[in-house]
Amino acid sequence: MSQPYDFAIIGAGAAGLAAAQYGARANLKTVVIEEMAPGGQALLIDALENYPGIEEPISGYDLAERMRVQAERFGASFIDASVSNVRKENGRFIVETSNGPVESLTVLVATGAKHRQLEIPGEQEFMGKGISYCATCDGPFFKGKRMLVVGGGDAACDEATYLSKLSDQIVMIHRRDRFRAQKALAQRVLSNPSIQVRFNTVAKEIRGDTKIRSVLLENVLTHEITEEPFEAVFIFIGSIPQTEFLKDTGVALDETGYIITDCTMQSSIPGLFAAGDVRATPFRQVITAAADGAIAAHAAANYIDEQRGQAYR
Ligand code: NAP
Repeated sequence: MSQPYDFAIIGAGAAGLAAAQYGARANLKTVVIEEMAPGGQALLIDALENYPGIEEPISGYDLAERMRVQAERFGASFIDASVSNVRKENGRFIVETSNGPVESLTVLVATGAKHRQLEIPGEQEFMGKGISYCATCDGPFFKGKRMLVVGGGDAACDEATYLSKLSDQIVMIHRRDRFRAQKALAQRVLSNPSIQVRFNTVAKEIRGDTKIRSVLLENVLTHEITEEPFEAVFIFIGSIPQTEFLKDTGVALDETGYIITDCTMQSSIPGLFAAGDVRATPFRQVITAAADGAIAAHAAANYIDEQRGQAYR
């Protein structure tokens, strides 16, 4: 078993990286455990334009890299591993990772969420061959082509706007009669001449041979089904929180699987915190994730002080 840490952070997205910086700066022995490159969902952001103080749009990758360097500079360490289980024993947490167990006084879950799938015929078959969940990653392969965007939230609107810089033949469908997205993002899509929006429409099947050729679309009001040519389908229909490895802890989740916390980011289990997209929260942004992480680090430090009888009262 490695030396015990004060603060073990699972996930290196905006929440985890901000927590690492705040934790290490508060003199907590801090480790970040991440199986991929730092950045989380922010890695998909081509141009982040609403992070306070950063006037010029910055890529999610660049921002995450700066946050990682800053966290390391304050003394946080990083372990490249996946986490399979978390349990609490004798007041300490054991985080089982692919690189062996990590022991810590507190744990922050900052694992974010993964893309929800449509679960329609053709989606698995054409995965990576025209089906995508990341416009900045795969959009450039379909420059000038006819592309379908599915979804009605912020992600769908943002990504459709990005794709419209690559092609003027973007069709966007949403199952309801208006967008769920923030008004500013929705309006940007609705006024974009390269994006044709169709409300009350769902995708029923994706067809092709070695690549996507067409998609069956259904108007949910008239039930009329049409087959239309497309070369790529970008799916942005929300996300599923990544909490499987917490099943033995019995931590409280909301009805959609997100971790319930109090205002200090502490979960139903003392010493176990959650921050960012994996947490039950009304607004998921890079800045809210970073703020969650900072609060969680502060609360973890207070928790440790209390455990040691050193709390300032
Ligand atoms: P979201 O807000 O949950 O929206 C998902 C959309 O997909 C909804 O419009 C939903 O329809 C639709 N949908 C869900 N399941 C579907 C299905 N099976 N078939 C067809 N449509 C389906 O998810 P998101 O857009 O990925 O955003 C996730 C979080 O990240 C949000 O908190 C968002 O604010 C944040 N985010 C922010 C930005 C930004 O600020 N620029 C960018 C990206 C993401 P209904 O509306 O009918 O439920």
